[in-house]
Amino acid sequence: TITMAAIDEEGYIHVGTSTNGLRHTISGRVGDASIPGSAAYADNEVGAAMTTGDGDILMRFLPSLLAVEAMRAGKTPAEAVELVIQRIRKHQTFFDVAIIAVNRLGTYAVGCYGTGMAKNNGEFGYMVSSPGQPVRTEWVPCT
Ligand code: ASP
Repeated sequence: TITMAAIDEEGYIHVGTSTNGLRHTISGRVGDASIPGSAAYADNEVGAAMTTGDGDILMRFLPSLLAVEAMRAGKTPAEAVELVIQRIRKHQTFFDVAIIAVNRLGTYAVGCYGTGMAKNNGEFGYMVSSPGQPVRTEWVPCT
């Protein structure tokens, strides 16, 4: 999956996502990428969230919507990310997810659970671009 969020100069928040299917590439599959609130969600008043991972599990929890609503309720992006991972863990033992939450000011947090999303020493990599700064890659450990 490639999923991303962008905050434009006027403060509008945009998300986009695409996928070739992490586990399932069967023809006609409707994955999580095309379900609003699952792989991506944005609300200009709050922020945005995006996920990658086991789409057929994740879509049952609308994790991106959950993260945005958690931030709306006052959670930080880091707390929202943790809340989503714990919510899924309550119902599901084995799954892979990486989730990014960003508030409307650009403060972001990333969480990763499971081994499937880890690419480098058990870490998930993501890219960040801020005005006037070069694009950089950051890593977060997968628990
Ligand atoms: N979530 C995607 C899917 O299940 C896969 C991925 O994130 O790589 O289609």
